Amino acid sequence: MPFKPDQIIVHHDGVSREGPSFGIVDDFHESLGFPISSLGFCVGYHYWIERDGVIRQARAENELGAHTKGQNYTALGIGMAGCFDKEDPSPEQVAALGLLLSNLCSRHDIPAERIFPHRKYANKSCYGSRLSDHWAQDVLADFRKKDAAEAKEAATATFSVSAAPLPPGWLARVTVAFVTLCKAVLNSRG
Ligand SMILES: [Zn+2]
Repeated sequence: MPFKPDQIIVHHDGVSREGPSFGIVDDFHESLGFPISSLGFCVGYHYWIERDGVIRQARAENELGAHTKGQNYTALGIGMAGCFDKEDPSPEQVAALGLLLSNLCSRHDIPAERIFPHRKYANKSCYGSRLSDHWAQDVLADFRKKDAAEAKEAATATFSVSAAPLPPGWLARVTVAFVTLCKAVLNSRG
């Protein structure tokens, strides 16, 4: 049965670290026995946002995630590096999240009201007690409000992964293309 997401669940790492966390999370989720994705990662989220705003894709969007018990059949998962119980997301992370949410919501027809923190479904603070339940929805609203033209462009930019076999190196290219897009949007905004 193809995976058809109708909500987006946002997480934090729960750990403060210097530098990129994607590889560490990949090792950790592998140790938990999370299934390897078609992209070759065990990270349970579909996307990961580093502290510096770089977005990494771990799972194809038509592939089940492993991030929220009971919701993985209907939810795209986004993980963010950091512990938002005691620190705020970086401005770069917030900008990247806005862009990513805008893109995912548009392409999957997911309304902003269907963006939730992990804690809606679990007895934990995730995505962090410093952030309100509607924080991620507000990030999307701010992104769309700040520059409607850029938001529209970002929303229609394609960086989704096709189900067809992909040539070697495609992930790096997609990631670089997307990061370039993020930077272009961020820079143009000053
Ligand atoms: Zn979580």
